Amino acid sequence: MRILITNDDGVYSPGIAALANVAATFGDVRIVAPDVEQSSASHAITATRPIRLKKVVIGNFDAYRVNGTPADCVALGTHTWGNVDLVLSGINLGPNLGNAVWHSGTLAAAKQAALLRMRGIAFSTPISEIKEPNFARLEPYIRKVLELLLKDKTMCLVNVNLPEKPKGIRWTRLAVGQYDGKVVADKDPMGRAIFWFTVKPLNDEVEGTDRWAVANRWVSVTPLRLDLTAEKDLARALSYPEVPAMTPATRRKTTARARKKVQNRRLGPE
Ligand code: MN
Repeated sequence: MRILITNDDGVYSPGIAALANVAATFGDVRIVAPDVEQSSASHAITATRPIRLKKVVIGNFDAYRVNGTPADCVALGTHTWGNVDLVLSGINLGPNLGNAVWHSGTLAAAKQAALLRMRGIAFSTPISEIKEPNFARLEPYIRKVLELLLKDKTMCLVNVNLPEKPKGIRWTRLAVGQYDGKVVADKDPMGRAIFWFTVKPLNDEVEGTDRWAVANRWVSVTPLRLDLTAEKDLARALSYPEVPAMTPATRRKTTARARKKVQNRRLGPE
């Protein structure tokens, strides 16, 4: 099995080496990650300038840095290596819980894998100001999660958050009831106004959510999907008289007409 490893903290983050160490017991590993930190870069791709792969030394791993985003690294890493089965992203130094999935570069790398029809799994863990996470303590749980997920081939996109001292694993849903982003106003040394986009602590974790799991020392494993369609809203909207719903019959006719149009264009004088 070919496993591509990436992250959003940058190729030299200790979290990526910890993840690669576990992954190496499951298959062939290659690290392709951003050259500098890309936390909160979400799913941006670099479309206005070229990007490059450059060899770096990360233990004994085959490793490269890219002057791009986490999503770039997955696209480039899988394109150049080929036949990648699995993309692992992390271990992010900081949690990615609830609505943080909208901002997370760690999860975006896993999403990019899912878009390219591979499997993507993101790993994150909280950090304290003073010390690095104890990766040795997390490794057996990462191994267990991988064993679980590799058995179930239908889960293509999964978000995993590991508490500092795990006591077990729980399947969870996203805690989307609250948002922790906030803007803090301050002054620069010249007295001019500046603003920091930062987070505020949340409480009231709903049982069964990712935030609840990590707060209670469970490893949170959340299966996700790419289709953001609001099914209930769409079902209701389809009954509105103002906009006629496309019936399967009309859709077939439209598609046939569109196909003919394209064919005619191909046969045309140009
Ligand atoms: Mn990060």
